[in-house]
Amino acid sequence: MTEALQSSKATATIKPGLRLGIDVGGTKIEGVALDESDRVVAFCRQDSHQGNQSVLEDVVNVTHSLLTQIRQARGTDQASPSTASLGIGIPGLVDSARGLVSEAVNLSIRRMDLGAQAQAALNMPVLVENDVNAAALGASQGLDLPCVVFINLGTGLGSSIIQDGRIMHGATGYAGEIGHIPVDSHSLPCKCGQHGCLETVASGAAIQAHWPQADPPLPDIIEKAKAGQADAREALNTVISGIATAVQIAGATLDPDAIILGGGVTKTGPALLDLVKAELTARGKTSRFVSFLNLPARLRMVGSNQRIGAVGAALAGAAQSRQRPGASPKASHGPEPEPQIRPEQEP
Ligand SMILES: [Zn+2]
Repeated sequence: MTEALQSSKATATIKPGLRLGIDVGGTKIEGVALDESDRVVAFCRQDSHQGNQSVLEDVVNVTHSLLTQIRQARGTDQASPSTASLGIGIPGLVDSARGLVSEAVNLSIRRMDLGAQAQAALNMPVLVENDVNAAALGASQGLDLPCVVFINLGTGLGSSIIQDGRIMHGATGYAGEIGHIPVDSHSLPCKCGQHGCLETVASGAAIQAHWPQADPPLPDIIEKAKAGQADAREALNTVISGIATAVQIAGATLDPDAIILGGGVTKTGPALLDLVKAELTARGKTSRFVSFLNLPARLRMVGSNQRIGAVGAALAGAAQSRQRPGASPKASHGPEPEPQIRPEQEP
């Protein structure tokens, strides 16, 4: 079949309407339903539970809650599962092509065939995606910018790349893994075996290690640095410099519309964004190259309370559904030659 024919068949089989997305986290699970205009028309948030069976039950419960809300608002026909697609964002190593999740430590999942199990339970096409990739897609859509890099300042440091509105996995699933770029080979050892990785200075775990006397550490570091405390100033300089370098790497390698900071560390608030922008502005004053990158203007931050994870999962699930026209839920879970995996990035 030619590409044009495949394309026309895909268009003919798209059913406009319900796209469901679920973001599974270590303590909460959130679900959304998007309408044709990408508006959130149903929302559900509840506590999440540990272990394979409980995670599946949580996913099923949230899906049913979303469908019930839609049925009540619109009428039964439009909320039929046959018109829905579901995307699930979850931490851990995710093989999207096969729907497999492994090493999702904060959900006590060693290995789980989540895609197939959710499809069997819900009778709808299901895509499983890494949660940071899903959040990146949600942030891209929310900003209406097709090319973004989402830097996740979670326990670790990772990033996801959205190119022309699609998640860029790379050939083996490691696209965007900037946390283990060594930026100072004489510096701290990293769990990956190298020294001086970005993650050893610009990540939640690194900040906590630098400043164990407060939890969360960064607001305390900022406050004490402002008050002139020398060790706080040094710690802050290390952290902000590391984050700025991550932003600079993203800007120089991908030239995106926006570079977005997300993840748990961003709970620090606007002060963090201001500090990183100030560092990038200072670098631009001593380097014409950095100045041309115009990084402060492209830098954004998303709050951890936004629904970008679930929205992005919904968009990713719908995109897969379109790519596989007419595929039954079982067929859409069929084997693929190239698994897309991604290391764990806890938010
Ligand atoms: Zn490393």
